Amino acid sequence: MVSRRNFIKTCISTLVGISCSELFFRAPTSSGAGRRQIPVLVYHRVGYTTDNFTVTPERFIADLRTLQQYGYCAISLEQFQSFIDDRDVEMPDKPILITFDDGYIDNFENAYPILKQHGMIATFFIITDKLWIGDRLNPERIVEMAQGGMSFGSHTVSHKRLGELATAEINDELAISKAVLESILGKTVNAISYPQGSYNENVIATAQKLGYVTGFTVREGVCSNNSPDFELRRIPIFKYDIGIESVMARRGGI
Ligand SMILES: [Zn+2]
Repeated sequence: MVSRRNFIKTCISTLVGISCSELFFRAPTSSGAGRRQIPVLVYHRVGYTTDNFTVTPERFIADLRTLQQYGYCAISLEQFQSFIDDRDVEMPDKPILITFDDGYIDNFENAYPILKQHGMIATFFIITDKLWIGDRLNPERIVEMAQGGMSFGSHTVSHKRLGELATAEINDELAISKAVLESILGKTVNAISYPQGSYNENVIATAQKLGYVTGFTVREGVCSNNSPDFELRRIPIFKYDIGIESVMARRGGI
């Protein structure tokens, strides 16, 4: 959890680059939570691998700088969940939730230092069966990132398509990953990112029963506090995207 003082400091650091131009980002300026929309970005890897889910560190830096120039302030998963739940929560004028799926080690080696340099925070969805595999985040890294203000959620145990599983398997994927992450972090984990965006009513009902409060899809769009809690839309970021402005304009619906 980011302290109030650090949170305000983070927001102040973004003020330097604020532009009045809202050509691409028509973020509401109202302080009323009921009228606000929050874009949720989803990255996967930050490095030099060649697949479409990897962006270079240079590109990630450029994305964060552009977001800051447009006045966006990264918020924590906890702040976002309070907003979705309609609770009164301190919120910057232009909030954005930055997420990462799959828990690659480059999230720690490349993305985390860049986020810190820019006073930004992000949320990482972890596949718990891969926690001790070389190219993924291990528990030690996760704890270090959490202490640095980063948030974490489940991306299930084994990354199977939840919408195609029997109820018992869905239950195991959601319950075991939640318990493992909670034991690492020493706090409640209550957000799920559906692997490959696969979910159905049974997945949602099981997640709710287990104590999850938000579910993130890969359907494109922005979130409002009217969004269904377990069908939250995100804005995917790919290697071939030219820049964050065009991505948000095309996929964000704002
Ligand atoms: Zn995934």
